[in-house]
Amino acid sequence: MTDRIHNFSAGPAVLPEPVLRKAQDAIWNAEGSGIGIMEHSHRGKVFDRIINDAEQACRELGGIPDGYRVLFLQGGASLQFSMVPMNLLPADRTADYLLTGVWSQKAIKEAQQTGKVHVAATSEATNFDRIPRQDEIRYSPAAAYVHLTTNNTIYGTQWQMEPQVPAGTPLVADTSSDMYSRPIDVRKYGLIYAGAQKNLGPSGVVLVIIRDDLVERGPKTLPTMLQYRTHAAEKSLYNTAPTFAIYVMGEVFKWIQAQGGLSAMAESNEAKAGTLYDYLDGSDFFRGTAQPDSRSRMNVCFRAPTEELEEKFVKEAAKRGFDGLKGHRLVGGMRASIYNACPTAAVEALVSFMKEFERANRVAATRS
Ligand SMILES: *Cc1c(COP(=O)(O)O)cnc(C)c1O
Repeated sequence: MTDRIHNFSAGPAVLPEPVLRKAQDAIWNAEGSGIGIMEHSHRGKVFDRIINDAEQACRELGGIPDGYRVLFLQGGASLQFSMVPMNLLPADRTADYLLTGVWSQKAIKEAQQTGKVHVAATSEATNFDRIPRQDEIRYSPAAAYVHLTTNNTIYGTQWQMEPQVPAGTPLVADTSSDMYSRPIDVRKYGLIYAGAQKNLGPSGVVLVIIRDDLVERGPKTLPTMLQYRTHAAEKSLYNTAPTFAIYVMGEVFKWIQAQGGLSAMAESNEAKAGTLYDYLDGSDFFRGTAQPDSRSRMNVCFRAPTEELEEKFVKEAAKRGFDGLKGHRLVGGMRASIYNACPTAAVEALVSFMKEFERANRVAATRS
């Protein structure tokens, strides 16, 4: 462990140590087959078992009921920004989007290429520092679906619960940065998608959970690769799947199970985030940027009194073995991404470094 540092990157992000160790072995020789995981045919028996196990673990973890397909696709969450409207939004219909940050903005931009978009609520006026309240949401009369971003990776805000949507309207969620960080009631959704590289595995695979009736909605004139029905019919193996990424994702699912499942994950994530927010709330040097009732348990965004001190903080943190703390340029300041696999000890070490930095720099800050 001593050759590794504390990684607070927003994504690709830290992975569980036991998963990395096991993957190291599997790269050389997967399941005693004499062939490394990256060298196996995606049509062979070994990979067949791996992808089936991954789906099984995914289903058990999330309590995914029958009537939903689990797909392992490519193109990242960003291609889902296009695939969702291409398949679910006819040209003469409107889709409702909840606009809570850069990623939902990007999702909206793609939907506008296909049909009409109505922004049902937004917190743009205060630079996305909060999640809209239910009473602020204005849905259009017959939306094809409602889309939300459950966790706003860049602004450090998170929906604390699903918004209510009109009966019969499918709820579509980009859960890229908080998938399986807490229990999820899949029945409330029509479609859930998540790029793996924050909470679930390496980049290169995106998890899609889609209700059966939505699988068939896309026009058959769409490119074959962009129709959900293609991937549902071929069980994610229409083309060569990202085999290694799927393998690691399956191992991450099993790791989460071994930790006690999603409620155990939620508990540990709340404790980690609580450690950071409690300290920020008590500090008169650092301050959190998200409004308290909208705070993310995955990405904790904070500022120091001046930009000079922020630069100094990031630099000194790096020297002490804390990486990935510079905030996104749109928010400034700092961001600690503390996904499932981020150890509690890393968060505790960060907070004690922050305390030390505050003590050493408070005088300078009050003088200026
Ligand atoms: C990172 C991220 C994305 C982009 O994912 P890609 O896999 O790079 O396309 C989309 N949405 C959210 C919420 C993210 O955090």
